Amino acid sequence: ARKAALAASTGPGATADGHKVPLLANVGGPSDVPAALEAGAEGVGLFRTEFLFLDDSKNAPSEEKQVEAYRQVLEAFPEGRVVVRVLDAGADKPLDFLTPADEPNPALGVRGLRTLLDHPDVLRTQLTALAKASEGLPVYLEVMAPMVADRADARAFADACREAGLRAKFGAMVEIPSAALRARSILQEVEFLSLGTNDLAQYTFAADRQVGAVSRLQDPWQPALLDLVALSAEAAKAEGKSCGVCGEAASDPLLACVLTGLGVTSLSMGSASIPYVRATLAKYTLAQCERAAAAARAADGADEARSAAQAVLSGE
Ligand code: PEP
Ligand code: MG
Repeated sequence: ARKAALAASTGPGATADGHKVPLLANVGGPSDVPAALEAGAEGVGLFRTEFLFLDDSKNAPSEEKQVEAYRQVLEAFPEGRVVVRVLDAGADKPLDFLTPADEPNPALGVRGLRTLLDHPDVLRTQLTALAKASEGLPVYLEVMAPMVADRADARAFADACREAGLRAKFGAMVEIPSAALRARSILQEVEFLSLGTNDLAQYTFAADRQVGAVSRLQDPWQPALLDLVALSAEAAKAEGKSCGVCGEAASDPLLACVLTGLGVTSLSMGSASIPYVRATLAKYTLAQCERAAAAARAADGADEARSAAQAVLSGE
């Protein structure tokens, strides 16, 4: 029965009553594209560009090398959406030539957009390569920055995009609680939000994502995390802009329904999860998803939130 349900799961992501929720793929480079196409991804919601920087520990990749890699991914989704994240170096993704070696708390140090603002040449090369790679393609390019903390960060990133002549939408990832709390202010500078729930959980609960001993607090069903998702989605709606999720949370089919109920406008995940999320979302109406979301937020812990949402969706 499960197989049949999955086989029937094709086409764009939507609830039972037709509320569209584009299902996008998280990719780490051109080699992940075939699996995304196979799963019927409607585009790429998170292109992690770090892989390009792993070959050489002393230098950034050349503009030509970057243009080639970006073009391969962009060409795979004609007319589709591709959301590229600029380099997210530091903390769990250190790069020798960019990441300070002597930080006492790398997760709270110079990482993500902070690294790029300290190395504007690296950001400029990446944005120029993206501008060149997308030239003449019908793809709908969106470019976002990791670890945006406030409006000044969002403005600095948008300015860099404009200076590089990038014709794309510019967005901010919401990975720090301050960004969720002040999402409307950030949206004065950028055109969309994308929730990185892995880091957002880490920073909300002061629980290192690499430390197994605190994994209980990394559970994306935590109601406090759901509250921050709701704040971000509501801010985007008020500004007439979109707010997706590209962290691991989107790959849990039940949680995907709850995120939809919270007002999230697209879900991006590892390609293997797309058919499961598509099939589950298709079973429930938007109103059911909203009720499940409200029940989850009213809970006091992650397990209770999961059971509460499950109970609403199974009609108990
Ligand atoms: C996240 O933090 O949720 C995210 C999508 O980015 P990464 O996992 O690459 O840090
Ligand atoms: Mg992150």
